[in-house]
Amino acid sequence: MFNLILFGPPGAGKGTQAIKIAEKFGWKHVSTGDILRAEVSQGTPLGLKVKAVMEAGHLVSDELLIEIMESVFVNNTTVSGFVLDGFPRTLKQAQELDEMLAQHDESVSMVLALEVNEDELVTRLLKRALEQGRKDDTEEVIKNRLVQYHHHTAPLVEYYRAKNLYKEVHGVGSIDDIFAQLCSVINA
Ligand code: AMP
Repeated sequence: MFNLILFGPPGAGKGTQAIKIAEKFGWKHVSTGDILRAEVSQGTPLGLKVKAVMEAGHLVSDELLIEIMESVFVNNTTVSGFVLDGFPRTLKQAQELDEMLAQHDESVSMVLALEVNEDELVTRLLKRALEQGRKDDTEEVIKNRLVQYHHHTAPLVEYYRAKNLYKEVHGVGSIDDIFAQLCSVINA
């Protein structure tokens, strides 16, 4: 099984590329942001719990994310691979992911990062705000999400570098060019 983590800050293009990778390789795309947004829009107890946190651009608790990922793994035992998009986002989540996978004799296969500079990220997120109307794409909240990324998520780069799993691709350019580069790293 191929367990790919698609890594990068908000606005790097993880969602767009994750869908394309999952389709090409026949893997299951798992976006924790999409899962959480669906809970919010359906007004489930979980959704009610996380709505304010998400709208403020903060991270939802590790405990909840780990529960969500456990159920993803339990419900997808026959897939040939995963493209994880937006998870893990903290060291704790990364460690728990390793444990969850180990329980099934699996491990993270590769961490593939999209490198995009900060100005470009903000421009993209503001554009997405206009196009999709995501509540967490306002200027104030975007700033918060980038702070969260630098504080909680960026340290994972070292975690995965130490395991020799970390690879990166320049994430600015056409969607198809970036996709081709990602595919060549995965295939290599
Ligand atoms: P995303 O669509 O990946 O940018 O996620 C949107 C929001 O969902 C984030 O700003 C967080 O509030 C929450 N979220 C998604 N994935 C995670 C995660 N792995 N850990 C904590 N919060 C998350």
